[in-house]
Amino acid sequence: MRLIYTNENRLIVANVRNILEAAGIELTMKNEFAAGGVGELSPFEVWPELWVARDSDYERAIRLLDSSLSARNAPSWRCANCGEHNDPSFEICWQCGHDRPKDAAWVDTSLQR
Ligand SMILES: [Zn+2]
Repeated sequence: MRLIYTNENRLIVANVRNILEAAGIELTMKNEFAAGGVGELSPFEVWPELWVARDSDYERAIRLLDSSLSARNAPSWRCANCGEHNDPSFEICWQCGHDRPKDAAWVDTSLQR
């Protein structure tokens, strides 16, 4: 089991958890209900933590996390393999699993808000 993410804001941690669980990654959350201990422990020690249950999922989880946190305001993109429209938070095509193209030409301008 490996630590994938921690943040003092448990709403952000919960959001990250949703993203990763939606991708089929099994997670364990630690310190989820530890906020009551803030007076006694240093704040950092009670931050909620997300742990990836299977080490084999770790690399994929990191990639998903990177793309979803950095691309929150990015436009949607179109899969180079099957042409499916993908949400900016996806690192791979949800339809066929093809890698997200790095080329900006694949940005899907039709879905921009
Ligand atoms: Zn695809």
